[in-house]
Amino acid sequence: MLLSRFPRVSLAHLPTPLEYLPNLTSNLGGPGIYVKRDDCTGLATGGNKTRKLEFVMADAIEQGADTIVTVGAVQSNHVRQTAAAACKLGMRCEVLLEHRVPDPSSLYTHSGNVLLDRLFGANIREYPDGTDFDEAMSTVAEDVRSAGGTPYIVPGGASNKIGALGYVNCAMEMVTQANERGLVIDHMVTATGCAGTHAGLIFGLKATNSQIPLLGIGVNAAKADQEQKVFDLAVETAEYVGAPGCVERADVVANCDYIGDGYGIPTPSMVEAVTMLARLEGLLFDPVYSGKALAGMIDLVRQGSVDKSENIVFLHTGGSAALFAYADQLELE
Ligand SMILES: *Cc1c(COP(=O)(O)O)cnc(C)c1O
Repeated sequence: MLLSRFPRVSLAHLPTPLEYLPNLTSNLGGPGIYVKRDDCTGLATGGNKTRKLEFVMADAIEQGADTIVTVGAVQSNHVRQTAAAACKLGMRCEVLLEHRVPDPSSLYTHSGNVLLDRLFGANIREYPDGTDFDEAMSTVAEDVRSAGGTPYIVPGGASNKIGALGYVNCAMEMVTQANERGLVIDHMVTATGCAGTHAGLIFGLKATNSQIPLLGIGVNAAKADQEQKVFDLAVETAEYVGAPGCVERADVVANCDYIGDGYGIPTPSMVEAVTMLARLEGLLFDPVYSGKALAGMIDLVRQGSVDKSENIVFLHTGGSAALFAYADQLELE
């Protein structure tokens, strides 16, 4: 598989480190827990969208775009990384923010990611929950065109077959790291939302014949919907790369038991997990994605669902900028 056939710009610090977490491992009494540090991708506090944007922004450049149009929740990490990438590449960025969290605090609407979006000079428009964003983004793109610009629409989370290439690349990178140090990875765990990360990884892990099962921990949709969304995108990505039939439905597994009351709404187990990793390992996770996924992984390990002699890699997808927007909801002792 040769990803260099696809247009790509360099935005991320790669490879990201693959680190052992000795204190978490001993706190839980095994299995061996490792973290793939995609919070260290380097662009504007990092995160998983940067790998996807390397391919998506290259496509935008190929199409002659000068203005990126994209969408996310108010505290979207995707929007923050896209706004920063647009700056770096000399493009304008039109952002559509969706109010997905009920009764947001002023910190939620002004601090964290949205503060950084403004710092990057993104032009922000706000919309109510449930807006038809395909339509809203077309309208904004039309406005850009009438003003003489050339728009390029990046879907939510940069989760299409082009963005997913970033996580095909991540899977190959991690398999190489494991081979170099003689590490046997028995399981991989990631947060799964718009699905590009999960879909790219599942295809990459299959295409390299790594035989590493991947568990996606959902932050939004119900299990059946999440798995279908990931599977459809993984199939599309496999076809795009020229390996149709590589991914089977049974490869796609999501656990959606750790969402709590809904997307972006804190749960007690997320607060526990975020606090635990900060105090045991000096690591920052986020309240919306990686914190809930981590809470899920910790709970599954405590339930004994992973053999103590095995090794797990948790993909750290980033998001710590959102911590500041949740400062009043973390109930720290
Ligand atoms: C966007 C995001 C995810 C989910 O990635 P998808 O590819 O959209 O499923 C996970 N963690 C963080 C921190 C994110 O910002």
